[in-house]
Amino acid sequence: MTKRLRIVAIDGPAGAGKSTIAKALAVALNIPYLDTGAMYRMVTYAALRDGIDIKNESDVAAIAKGMRAVMKSDRFLVDDVDVTDIIRGPQVTEAVSTVAALSAVRSELRASQRSWVENAGGGVVEGRDIGTVVFPDATLKVFLTASPAVRAQRRVAQSGGDVVEIEEQIRQRDHLDSTRADSPLRESNDSLFIDTTDLSIDAVVKQITSSVESIESNINE
Ligand code: C5P
Repeated sequence: MTKRLRIVAIDGPAGAGKSTIAKALAVALNIPYLDTGAMYRMVTYAALRDGIDIKNESDVAAIAKGMRAVMKSDRFLVDDVDVTDIIRGPQVTEAVSTVAALSAVRSELRASQRSWVENAGGGVVEGRDIGTVVFPDATLKVFLTASPAVRAQRRVAQSGGDVVEIEEQIRQRDHLDSTRADSPLRESNDSLFIDTTDLSIDAVVKQITSSVESIESNINE
């Protein structure tokens, strides 16, 4: 029998604390971390760079297939250009949910995400559809959320901006992400639900780590 990979799926809306928690969790569990949102952002960057209509499914899918995306620790490269900062900027952030609604792009990225985790021997994988679609058999699925006001405040603390505007942008992105036809953002009924509004990063990481350990000790018994 092949050994079951340790995979922790972290899903939830924008600004719920997913990245911070997923990175800390990867260190605590000693497994790699995959930011799937960055993959959708890299495709969006390349489509905007090439002046492609971001609603044109076949053109954007061709970009996703043809571009050379490299993820090296905290840096992201597209066709040898470091795009780490630009993929978090306003243009990409505004367009990414439109690109992420395209099925042909999703199936391309889903395949890359599965082979990345297979090659890495497991991982903490963060996104919107990880527990529901990409890894439905993950060791543990976590759904993180927080109140809209706190999510907006966290984004402003991270990258600046006006809190009211950021809250509205987050609301629009969450709406697009949760109403698209292909793999919408939703909580799966077997996930661990954590509202991080009043919790410290440390407390959330500890809760998830102990859930993973208790699941694995039950499997090994
Ligand atoms: O996590 P992040 O905010 O960087 O994600 C950017 C966007 O990428 C999301 O708003 C969503 O449209 C898309 N996404 C997705 N599925 C994932 C990860 C991200 O549709 N697994």
